Amino acid sequence: MPELPEVETIVRGLSIVNGARIDKLEVLDPRLDLPVQEIVGKRIERIERRGKYILLHLPKDKSLIVHLRMSGRLTLARSPAEEKHTRLIVHLDRGKVYFINPRRLGTVEYSQNGFPHEIGIDPFDLEFTPQRLQEIVMPSRAPIKPLLMNQRRIAGLGNIYATEALWRGRIDPRRVGNTLTAKEVRLLHRAIVTVLQEAIDHMGTTFGEAVSDYRNASGNRGIFRNLLAVYGREGEPCRRCEKTIERIVQTGRSTYYCPKCQG
Ligand SMILES: [Zn+2]
Repeated sequence: MPELPEVETIVRGLSIVNGARIDKLEVLDPRLDLPVQEIVGKRIERIERRGKYILLHLPKDKSLIVHLRMSGRLTLARSPAEEKHTRLIVHLDRGKVYFINPRRLGTVEYSQNGFPHEIGIDPFDLEFTPQRLQEIVMPSRAPIKPLLMNQRRIAGLGNIYATEALWRGRIDPRRVGNTLTAKEVRLLHRAIVTVLQEAIDHMGTTFGEAVSDYRNASGNRGIFRNLLAVYGREGEPCRRCEKTIERIVQTGRSTYYCPKCQG
């Protein structure tokens, strides 16, 4: 699933849409309920990421809001394999943007009035400080890993980067939020920001070759996979202490951790 670094990479790759006029909207999936007549002719003022959402801002506080969910993708150039999974084509005065959505879980909605979703703070928001993270973590009785993935608290972290941040911060993913010390929260804050930034620098994480695997807006793979310390590395040695990485399941999702470093 695309998380913050993958969505950010896609948004950066779509800067061509800034200021572009929408000349035609080709809706290829009846589940996409869009007022085509109203949208066509409008200019995209700018593209923006909020958490895992992609916003195409239109005049007068209206917007197209995309969420890629498990396997959605926005791309400027689709491959032949992606053709049958194309659910929307946005024809611009300077090119086309394709919404590829193999499992049809991704969404595109039209908002008449701002951003309608309640999401938590973005890790790249200047207000996301160690203090702010402490205010999120300290009162919680939830284990830290699912807490980090709760989009209503922090927007953009998913399974991969929550897992990686906890390894970097040397925190057991099963620890309950309110048991973390202030020092641990500071280390975790730094771990979250640095892992996300490094992943953006490497254009995100792509695992496989399938049409449902993440690609950037130009169709290229992200290369952060090679730098993952624990995610997907069950049975392999920890990169820090060589202890064997273990896998557990938390709220239905795999968590990988080092039982020594994160003990
Ligand atoms: Zn270790």
